[in-house]
Amino acid sequence: MFKPPRCPYRPCSQHKSPARKFCIRHGTYAPRCRSRRVQRFRCLSCKRTFSRQTFRADYRDQKPHLNAVLFTMIASGIGIRQSARNLGLTLRCTELKLRKIGRHLRRLNLNLQGQLPAEAKLHFDEIETYEGQRNTRPLSVPILIESETRFIIWAESATIRPRGTMTKKRLKAIADAEKRHGIRKDRSRRSVRRTLQRGAKLARTSRTVLLNTDEKLSYPSIANRTYGKARLSHQKTNSKLARWTWNPLFAINSEEAIMRDLMGRLRRESWLVSKKRRFLDLALQLHATYRNIVRKRFNRDEESPAQLLGFLPRRLSPTEVLSWRQDWQEQSVHPLSMRGVTIADWNSQVAAAA
Ligand SMILES: [Zn+2]
Repeated sequence: MFKPPRCPYRPCSQHKSPARKFCIRHGTYAPRCRSRRVQRFRCLSCKRTFSRQTFRADYRDQKPHLNAVLFTMIASGIGIRQSARNLGLTLRCTELKLRKIGRHLRRLNLNLQGQLPAEAKLHFDEIETYEGQRNTRPLSVPILIESETRFIIWAESATIRPRGTMTKKRLKAIADAEKRHGIRKDRSRRSVRRTLQRGAKLARTSRTVLLNTDEKLSYPSIANRTYGKARLSHQKTNSKLARWTWNPLFAINSEEAIMRDLMGRLRRESWLVSKKRRFLDLALQLHATYRNIVRKRFNRDEESPAQLLGFLPRRLSPTEVLSWRQDWQEQSVHPLSMRGVTIADWNSQVAAAA
């Protein structure tokens, strides 16, 4: 039986630190999109009512039963328009659904991250893509993964300046684009730092950190500052080395290949281009969820990367990753709890049992 973990209304005193019996049952209602009646509750403090549904990620969604299918389609590299056609949704509705799913998964990914092993092994790299137009609005996407489990710790996009061969035509296109969108700043360094810092949060308890990157000159100083020189060993590999399994960068090269394949918008010569950078970021979160939580590490495995790192006891289904709202950090309901146990309580129960 579901027990609300808190009052969902932020201004209420029972939101941040709920008392043990802060609410009582308050009748049921019959939602149009489901066959079963849903229990309502009433907060004894603010007197407002809510239900189990208030805590669900599909709260107030139209056609919530399509969310998991849409997630699977997009995570498999199908474009937004084609998914909309397949599901009989309008393009607008599909886009809005995806943005909401992306924001939800961003929180879920962060909420479920735990600590890496004592000897943390990381791979870091940047790939290039673009928003809107290839020759004028390029992007860099820093990606940080845990090397053994292939867990994607973080990936985000940053604007970079157009570079490479400049023809007269291209220079004009760049000038036109800058007139429309403003001067294009190079934000990649900041983005690299933020991505590596996400890893440092997970390596707080690690004695040593092994970081594998290519030989880009800006990496060593950022890495030393982020992880601490004393425990960091930074292995640099020439990026021109053939990309075969013996290449020390193989783990990240192969993850990038999977990303380019499964994220339609990273594919070269594709129609599925990100019109805006922030939607690429949401798509990256979708991919990270699929990669870390839903998919097996390798085809021969049974476990997901998150499971191998001990962040989750098993792989989750698309329905499960889209289950409970995740906007209360560790106080959000754990995706595997039926009764409404928070992630913090879940993890301390797991720690106590071990
Ligand atoms: Zn309340």
